[in-house]
Amino acid sequence: MVAQQTHPRDLWRRDLGGTAKRVAETLRLYGPRTRAELVTLSGLSRPTVSAVLTDLGGAGLVSEKVGAAARPVGGRPASVVQLTRRAGVAVGADIGRRHVRVAVADLGHAVIAERAARTDFDIDDRPADALELAVTLVDAALGDVGATRVDVVGVGLGVPAPITRDWRIGSPPMLPGWADLRPADELNARLGLPVRVDNDANLAALGEYVWGAGRGCTDLVYIKLATGIGAGIVLDGRLYRGAAGTAGELGHVTLDARGAVCRCGNRGCVELAVGGRALLANARQSHPQLQNLGGLIELANGGDPGCRRLIMDAGTQLGYALGNLVNLINPQRVLLGDELGAATELLREPLQRGLAETALAAAAEAVQVVQSALTPRAAALGAVALALGIDTVPFATAQ
Ligand SMILES: [Zn+2]
Repeated sequence: MVAQQTHPRDLWRRDLGGTAKRVAETLRLYGPRTRAELVTLSGLSRPTVSAVLTDLGGAGLVSEKVGAAARPVGGRPASVVQLTRRAGVAVGADIGRRHVRVAVADLGHAVIAERAARTDFDIDDRPADALELAVTLVDAALGDVGATRVDVVGVGLGVPAPITRDWRIGSPPMLPGWADLRPADELNARLGLPVRVDNDANLAALGEYVWGAGRGCTDLVYIKLATGIGAGIVLDGRLYRGAAGTAGELGHVTLDARGAVCRCGNRGCVELAVGGRALLANARQSHPQLQNLGGLIELANGGDPGCRRLIMDAGTQLGYALGNLVNLINPQRVLLGDELGAATELLREPLQRGLAETALAAAAEAVQVVQSALTPRAAALGAVALALGIDTVPFATAQ
């Protein structure tokens, strides 16, 4: 039997054992599922799963809802089983260049609280302040749903830099203020909770895959269009990280080998043609008052010819880079997100043209280019998915 009075943290660390843990972990990874799916996914027999569910139900850790299954079984509505709030919550935190955003979900994969704050500093200049702000927002979001840190089973963290498989910053020049830090350890030291870390574009792809415009799609690319350019790739239902963990650095694909030198140290990178920093520098030649990328997009959407030109040219260049990516991995969907995502209508046509010029016809026809559904929340929600461990399983394809 599972103890009735225990903190979720102790529950997962100590109290759940054997088959109960296996069933509970399956529910934590895959979300609400029918009993039949649980049998397949856990690899346990039907009578064992039934006995465990009775036990977990008695302890108030799972609930069953009739008629809630995505796919009715044999024409009749099947019931789905899911973990309850008693089983705990998962936390995601997204630290961007000028914002921190956190999200809390229950273990039935429902997002139940979110908090966000803009910073008046670049987080690269003040890592400790950014981490402290994340802690403040995590505690506030937990408080919003009557939870505390003892209810948290895991934390996911996103940062705007490539992250290696051993959770270090993969390219120090991209976030120099954090180069010697291990972001997961830093947040763990402040929260006293287990933390996993990944690149923010990877997490945005994961967030869209689980909750947004990538649902039901097993091969997708999320493009982060902001100050920097990044991509997150889901292949065959799994987040693809590559050998060193740094896959998806679309911003540092070379467009012009003899072009200007990029902050990464190479020449002619996509980011120099399409990144917010470059676009803004260019736009300021005619609009010196421009404060940020949002202002540039607003002018473009309002019909300013110079700003429109800049964004449309960026679309063409991005299309060339995407065409090459599409040739390599043949995704079903490309999601355009983050700040420049607000200019999707202006970007789309030149982007499609650039893509058609570089991608194979069959691959270009197979790919849908759509707007992100979760911007600006995608990376924070992806961080929740990371905390839940969804990145470790073929989530959408699993029956
Ligand atoms: Zn570069």
